[in-house]
Amino acid sequence: MSKYEAVIGLEVHVELKTDTKLFCGCSTEFGKEPNTQVCPVCLGLPGSTGILNKKAVELATKAGLALNCAIGTYTWFDRKNYYYPDLPKGYQISQFFRPIAYQGYLDIEVNGQSKRINITRVHIEEDPGKLVHSGGSITNSHYSFVDYNRSGMPLIEIVSEPDISSGEEAKAYLEKLKANLEYAGVSDVKMEQGSLRCDANVSVRPVGTTTLGVKTEIKNMNSFRAVQRAIEYEVERQIDILEDGGRVIPETRGWDENKGITVFMRNKENPDYRCFIEPELTPIQLTEEWIEEVRASIPELPDARRKRLVEEHGLPDYDAGVITSSLALAEFFDATLKKYPDAKTISNWIMGELLRLLNAHNMELNEAKITPDGLAALLKLIEKGSISNKMGKEVFEIMFKEGKDPDQIVKEKGLSQISDEGQLAQIIAEVIAKNPKSVQDYQSGKKQAIGFLVGQVMKATKGQANPGVVNTMLQERLAK
Ligand SMILES: [Zn+2]
Repeated sequence: MSKYEAVIGLEVHVELKTDTKLFCGCSTEFGKEPNTQVCPVCLGLPGSTGILNKKAVELATKAGLALNCAIGTYTWFDRKNYYYPDLPKGYQISQFFRPIAYQGYLDIEVNGQSKRINITRVHIEEDPGKLVHSGGSITNSHYSFVDYNRSGMPLIEIVSEPDISSGEEAKAYLEKLKANLEYAGVSDVKMEQGSLRCDANVSVRPVGTTTLGVKTEIKNMNSFRAVQRAIEYEVERQIDILEDGGRVIPETRGWDENKGITVFMRNKENPDYRCFIEPELTPIQLTEEWIEEVRASIPELPDARRKRLVEEHGLPDYDAGVITSSLALAEFFDATLKKYPDAKTISNWIMGELLRLLNAHNMELNEAKITPDGLAALLKLIEKGSISNKMGKEVFEIMFKEGKDPDQIVKEKGLSQISDEGQLAQIIAEVIAKNPKSVQDYQSGKKQAIGFLVGQVMKATKGQANPGVVNTMLQERLAK
């Protein structure tokens, strides 16, 4: 065991799923031509004043509730003053003094152990624009472009307490956070599209001490797996420095995905943003009734859904945890269950074949062609004995890729299983006649000899005989 322990806090930025920006009517649609979704407000032109998007406040409140936070009934916006080319106003509108939500938590599970990660605050802020450099960064580029389409997009920043102790816990926390926000319908939470971004504050200290070590901030991680790897690397790096008698320097470091290391970006300054109350926007006053209305509009969240799958459908807790880890999987499960009422069998196929293929092809569930109706139909074919479990896997893979009907695939591939005793009787009689030694062995008590005979029937039918039926028929015929 290491003499050191890691102390990690995460700052997560999540884009709220509104149609328009935080303070103007510009569209939030992703992937449009640069600078086509802009107006005087989000370009920060002098004299322009925005109006707060009510939907953004509602979604931020929803997010706070989905993260078990208290909601501030009287909050306001502040100006965070700094200069950067992607921030034309020279300040970002954020919530510095009074966040909309605070004191929340998420319970995570790592290696079968449950742990509570506390959430300090959730505040609303506007996104700056996006810089695109001709070189690797702003300092070594001949020129840079600015796209203000992102300027003024509504974000929430979710700040955790430094309760996280490993890269694995960080990943589990992010997965839980993503699932809760996705279920609540607050955000698309897509890291690839930038609607979820995460920075990690990492420090280490000797086990048994309580003073915090010097922390570094890690940026540029573009997947949950990358967050885990970056933290694991950074913790080791800091421990090595301390072991060598050195000191950790407070700095911002970037994750280099290809090399698998964190690299120096800049020294960590503690800039004074001169935050003050935004004078052009009125404070946000929320009534308790309105907050309760928002609470009532939140659908069942992952933990509750997991409990329901265990209590109502008898699924093992582990299965329920995997299935409810994403809204898409949970809905796929529920829809299949409506057509085929065997929860455990469905869960086996989802956790086995479906997740295996999604991982192998690095796909999201909505990109796969298989439907809940299709899976239910396939499971019925297997249950009837029309095809074997093994054939079912083959059919499943075709459905996954091409979305065809299982009956059609079975016909096209000639996969049907022979369960008809009439069709099998002749072949079984031949196998018995040709293998007197095995028959004798079986009849003299070597019951395992039947395996060979079943194998011969399978061979004669090119694997299409139903082994269960063959087994039963052989036993009947050999019982003398
Ligand atoms: Zn605008």
